[in-house]
Amino acid sequence: MSAPDATRPIPVAVFGGTFDPVHHGHLRVAWEVAEQLGCEVRLLPSARPPHRAVPGADAEDRARMLELALAGQDCLSLDRRELDRSGPSYSVDTLREMREELGPDRPLIFILGADAFRALPSWHRWHELPGLAHLLAMTRPRQRLDKLDPDLHAAMVGRWTGMTERLRGEPAGRVMVLRVTPLSISSSLIRAELARGRSPRYLLPAAVLDYIQARGLYRGT
Ligand code: ATP
Repeated sequence: MSAPDATRPIPVAVFGGTFDPVHHGHLRVAWEVAEQLGCEVRLLPSARPPHRAVPGADAEDRARMLELALAGQDCLSLDRRELDRSGPSYSVDTLREMREELGPDRPLIFILGADAFRALPSWHRWHELPGLAHLLAMTRPRQRLDKLDPDLHAAMVGRWTGMTERLRGEPAGRVMVLRVTPLSISSSLIRAELARGRSPRYLLPAAVLDYIQARGLYRGT
């Protein structure tokens, strides 16, 4: 973890997803962000993702699996706000709500996969995002973030930084690329293994797998 600066509150980073179920790919990425940026990371499961099929496990089960996965450490935490909301959740509304809670000065970091970052121009009121949070685009080794959509490119001019200190020292408005360790794991792979009657052991925390088996989740998906 980077040395904490006692004069500034530590940044809050938000990592959204379906987490259906949470797995070691998610957890490793969240952990690396916490370590590299010296921030806390809140994992934010979505209730009804605007762009995705209906999840296989309900909101309560997905939240419970996250709680089990996060036990025993205090850098990563579960944020339930989207689960308790009815209807679709838009990132812009969630970040606005978090900004109100954190106040104007605390750094807020929105974590995105490189593909999600590229697709930002299709998101609801995406132009407002940099006013609310820093954007952190995660890439894999040798993956480049070039040839961006012209609107996205224009909106990011002057915002790019390679210095984590910039993110820690300002509340919002910067864009950074962070290289993370690629783990070739996905929730859909885990659901498919379970549906075929095979075990996804070691792709996700043992406590999460025990919960899935005890509740009989994902048998028919
Ligand atoms: P599915 O297979 O159902 O599409 P998923 O495994 O991609 O699910 P999500 O909950 O949709 O999981 O992902 C939430 C976030 O986690 C996204 O930003 C996604 O890019 C990221 N993510 C998912 N799997 C990995 C992984 N193995 N390594 C790094 N990031 C990941």
